Order: sequence, then C-alpha cells, then structure tokens
Amino acid sequence: MSRYAHPAGPRHADVLPEEHPPAPPEDLHELDPRVWPGSAQRVDGELALGGVGAAALAAEYGTPLFVLDEAEFRRRARDYKEAFGGIGADVYYAGKALLTKAVAKWVHEEGLKLDVCSGGELSVALAAGFPAADLGMHGNNKSEAELVRALEAGVGRIVVDSFDEIDRLERLAAERGLKPSVLVRVTTGVEAHTHEFVATAHDDQKFGLALSTGAAERAVRRLIDSPHIDLVGLHSHIGSQIFDTAGFEVAARRVAEFLARIHTELGVTLSELDLGGGLGIAYVPGDAPLTPKAIAENLVSIVSRECRAGGLPVPRIAVEPGRAIAGPAGVTLYRVGTVKDVEGIRTYVSVDGGMSDNIRTALYGAEYTCVLASRVSGAEPMLSRLVGKHCESGDIIVNDLYLPGDLRPGDLVAVAATGAYCYSMASNYNHLPRPAIAAVRDGASRTIVRRETEEDLLRLDEG
Ligand SMILES: *Cc1c(COP(=O)(O)O)cnc(C)c1O
Repeated sequence: MSRYAHPAGPRHADVLPEEHPPAPPEDLHELDPRVWPGSAQRVDGELALGGVGAAALAAEYGTPLFVLDEAEFRRRARDYKEAFGGIGADVYYAGKALLTKAVAKWVHEEGLKLDVCSGGELSVALAAGFPAADLGMHGNNKSEAELVRALEAGVGRIVVDSFDEIDRLERLAAERGLKPSVLVRVTTGVEAHTHEFVATAHDDQKFGLALSTGAAERAVRRLIDSPHIDLVGLHSHIGSQIFDTAGFEVAARRVAEFLARIHTELGVTLSELDLGGGLGIAYVPGDAPLTPKAIAENLVSIVSRECRAGGLPVPRIAVEPGRAIAGPAGVTLYRVGTVKDVEGIRTYVSVDGGMSDNIRTALYGAEYTCVLASRVSGAEPMLSRLVGKHCESGDIIVNDLYLPGDLRPGDLVAVAATGAYCYSMASNYNHLPRPAIAAVRDGASRTIVRRETEEDLLRLDEG
C-alpha cells in the first residue's frame, strides 16, 4: 500500500500533523447539496453542472476553468431579494466577490442593487448598463478620479471612510453643483468570523470611523453641516464567513445607540442603516449557514428593538452579501498533471492552476471540497493534498482531502464553492494566463470571461 488508504495505523501516527485529517467520507463521489450548486449531479459517473458534463466543459474551454451555475447564482440573489425586499430592506450584491458584465446583469435582473469598491468595478457595472442610482461605492482610499466618476455617473450611495475623503468629496461635489447621498462607515469595535466575534479592540484597522473614539460623531457633525453632501445614514461591516447573527446584534445595538444620540443631540434622524455583508456559506460538509430568511428576520428584529429602545423610527436596512450569492454558484475544474506519493504520508495531486486562481487557501487557510469529476472509481480512498503548479510550497488548494487511490494524470477534479474571491483575486503569478469563466444553464454553456492567452500577457510588456 504505497498510497495508503487511511491515516490510522502505527506507521503514520508519528508523522501525521497533530490535527490529522478526518476519516474519509463514506462516499468519495458524493455531492453534498449544501456545498455544490443545485444543478451538480453525476451522469454516468461524470460530474455535470447546469446539465453540461465536466469533460465537455474542459474540452471546450480548457482547464483550469471557472464554471458558474447561472441558476444557482440567480436563485441565491432572488432568495436574498425576497427575504429582505419583503421587509422593505435593500440588498446590494458585493461585486468584489465576483464581477463581470453578465454577473452585473443577473444581479440587476433579479432586482438587487450592486456595491463596487474601485473605479474598475464601477466601470464593469456601468459597461453592463447597471443603473448608477442602484450602485453603492465603497473604499477606504477612493481616488479623486474614482469619486469624480461616481459623482458624474450618479452613483446612488457613496460610503465615506475618512475625513480626507469627506473634504475631497465635498470639494468635488461643490465644483459640480452636485449633492451626493452619503453613508458614514462606522466601526463598532465588533469583528465577526464564522461562529465567533470579538466585541472590543478591533478599532485598530484601516476601515471606517470609530464610534468609540468619537471620530464617527465628528464625521456626522461635519456632514450634517455640509451644503454639498446629503448624509442619509450609517454603514457597518463586521467581518466575513459569519454563521450566526450574534456579532450583528452587538454591532446593531452600538449603531442604534449612536443613531439615538444623533437624534437627540443633533436633532437629525438618519434614515438608512447598512449592516454590510459577511454572510457565510458551506465550503465543506458540516458548515451550516443561516438562510437569508432567518438572517433577515434576526437583523430586522435586532434593529427594530434597539431603535425602539432609543425612541427612534426604524431606519431602512440594507445588507451586502457577496460570497453568499456568488460562492456556491462557482466550481473550478482542473486537470490532474502529476500524482506523487510523498514519504508514505500523503499523495500530492498537482493540477494545472493553483494559487493564481485560488489564493484563499494560502491567504486565509480556507477549506474546500474536491471530487474526482471525470469518472467514478471504486479504488480505496487516498489521503491527498491538492496543489497547484506555482513555484511556492504554499501553493495549496485543498490541504487535506481524500481522492480515489487510482487517480491519474488526465483525470479532471472539481473544487466546489469557488465562485467568490477566486477569480476576483486571481493573478498572473508565474505568468499563468487567468482561466475562463463559463456560465452553465439548462444544458448549455457560454463563456462570460474568456481565458487569457500568452499574447494577452505580453501585450502590456513594452520590451
Ligand atoms: C467584503 C464586503 C462585503 C461582502 O462580504 P461577503 O463576505 O462577500 O458577503 C460587503 N460589504 C463590505 C463593506 C465589504 O467590505
């Protein structure tokens, strides 16, 4: 047994890392519906997405390939729209998770608004014909050119993040005789991640203006007095991959107390409260995110309770899910290039992409689920590590996983839940061209972003 089937056993007990991987799943080919898009299924053993087989997708578009299940993306967008729209709240899709012209169109067609956080994201949204009034603009260092573009396009909400930006925006708006609608990004001292949140000591970061230091209050006073800016509300974003609403509860309470103070001390009632994004998804079986409906109900009841306690009208709420809409709609297909047994510890499976198309494992220690996609196999499970082709030993896509013991070069593997923050963080490290994104739906596929070529890479090189 060179590629051994199971980590248990005396030979491996002393070499396996302390947190050794879980036992292999009962069925190596299972597609857990929480992790995989709704259309994912095995057809004669082969993985199909949106009714299109993995081998056909790989043959048509090459690998690595981002496959985006349009129906899954739209369904998730619609679920948020229904859950929050039903209670008079706004949903902004956070474009930084994944933004292409097709994606922007889906977001608009499903009735959501859209957040952008750079001139580049703004240009994609505008190129897609997204109504500027339904755009929100973020960023802790928006350039003058970005602000001018947002002002002139008529972006609906600009979220200001510093006093320098307030000065800049005020001057640019005055010069143009415009009066943008603005939210102040406040930091509440709450940082949330998955099931844990910390409710103090997180003011030491680059975003927002702190409630605790009085900076947020100074910004609000400054904006209320501005003839060129219309202050409509507050914004708070507490973290990412959050599985419950406890962190939101503390943040909402702090923001509501602040709203009440603005109301009594300054005589101003701010009408909007954007609670940001960060809603979690299942990357691996066992992750259990809340439904949009449960999140909507919790957030509204928290904000209503806190505002009523402060004698305030309840503001219009907004949320900004990115990952929760795009993440589970995306699957990455890779072709296996080498299968290397290392010291009898585990097998390194190298694929034709890596940290240039998925930096999240290297960056955050993210976890993913991966299956053999081109066929099923009855071979014993083999403890594996899915790695890329880059010149870094940290070029890991999935740290610990089990793949069939007869895996071989030429096989296709699929990594689930790569729709968010993979393409959008992709790089050309080692001069790898970035993959294509193919959208699948009802048995058909189309390219929504074509694969880069070496010509594309050389185009910018002036010699
Ligand atoms: C990143 C970000 C989001 C989206 O976060 P997700 O985890 O993708 O939901 C929303 N709002 C702001 C301000 C952000 O920075």
